Amino acid sequence: MDNPQKERTVVIIKPDGVQLGATGEILARLEKRGLKLVGIKMVKPTRDHLDKHYNATDAWLTGLGDKTYNAFAEFGWDVKEKMGTDDKLEIGKKVKNWLVNYMQEAPLVAMVLEGMHAVSTVRKTIGHTIPIQAEPGSIRADFSTDSNTAANIEQRAVRNVIHASGNVEEANFEITHWFAPQELFDYQRASEPAMFGPSK
Ligand code: ADP
Repeated sequence: MDNPQKERTVVIIKPDGVQLGATGEILARLEKRGLKLVGIKMVKPTRDHLDKHYNATDAWLTGLGDKTYNAFAEFGWDVKEKMGTDDKLEIGKKVKNWLVNYMQEAPLVAMVLEGMHAVSTVRKTIGHTIPIQAEPGSIRADFSTDSNTAANIEQRAVRNVIHASGNVEEANFEITHWFAPQELFDYQRASEPAMFGPSK
């Protein structure tokens, strides 16, 4: 098993995060959390690149559709009337389309961060997918107040300022999808001996 101190994950500042001028502050929070920046760039990806990033299996799309279905049902809205279908896979495909539109509104800042259990550490630091459900102090809660109900009524994606890989397998795919090997760097941060002990 690889040393979890060296785990890498992908973080993307989404268009709303970039437009809010929050990129620097979000990166500062992640660096303060002990994560090391090993790659960074500003990009305006093609639709095809984003389609592959959200490498949507039917199961993932159905899950996304299910969340949207439930948001409508909670609000007492007629899902079929609003979405033109009550099939969860079809709803998931529509939400994915909203998501790709959102991700093309402005440039993104993509980065790779390395550190102790980086994937789960970053996920905890960014908080819940839906900003109004995210814990205060988490990045999504502090930079967004969006709600899935509002988003679904307006037929748009939830605007939550940041993406981070969901698990190690996703991280490994996303690193190669967004970065060439020569765009990633190895170096020692001055804080490493304090955090992990002197190197052996
Ligand atoms: P995460 O980004 O936390 O990994 P998901 O992979 O489930 O969450 O969803 C991808 C993105 O799709 C979210 O970050 C959000 O922007 C958007 N999204 C998720 N659920 C919904 C929903 N019910 N309605 C609209 N947009 C959604």
